[in-house]
Order: sequence, then C-alpha cells, then structure tokens
Amino acid sequence: MKCLKCDGFNEKISITSLYEYFNLLEQLKLIISQGTLVLTEGNCDIEDLKSGGTFPKDYIFHAFKCVKCSRKYQLSVETYHGSGGKWDISENF
Ligand SMILES: [Zn+2]
Repeated sequence: MKCLKCDGFNEKISITSLYEYFNLLEQLKLIISQGTLVLTEGNCDIEDLKSGGTFPKDYIFHAFKCVKCSRKYQLSVETYHGSGGKWDISENF
C-alpha cells in the first residue's frame, strides 16, 4: 500500500547503537509535531528520552500510527545491555 505521508518510514530498521536510536527518535518527534504519525502507546514519556541521559527502563518501546493510512509502527530498544533495537512495521499489530 502506498502512502504519501509515511512511505519514508515504511522500511524495517535494525538499530545497532543508541546513537542510531536517538537519531530515529529525533526524526519521530519531528514528524509527530508535523502531524504525520501519532504516538499511540509506549512505556515511558518520549520527551524524557534524551541522548546522554539516563533511561527510565531497561526496555523501551513506543507505538505509532500514520494519521492517513493507519499503518502501525513500533520502535523498541534494549537499553540495559545496549544490544540494540528495531523499527518495525505492521499493518495490523
Ligand atoms: Zn501512512
């Protein structure tokens, strides 16, 4: 399915470093503020996550939804061991 709003994010990404995680997170905050994706779920406040700061949890996830096509996305990261995370896509989580 083509969607002009979120096609730029419609690709699974393996996150191998916290640098990558924050890079993606900053992009997400931006597109949330632009109204492209909405945050639907998460286990901590996205605004509390700052590069160089401490993590509220060992495992952090957030779910997002495209306002246009309702495609769902999930960003998750393991912060304790630093083993990485992923950007995942699903039509029907
Ligand atoms: Zn979309």
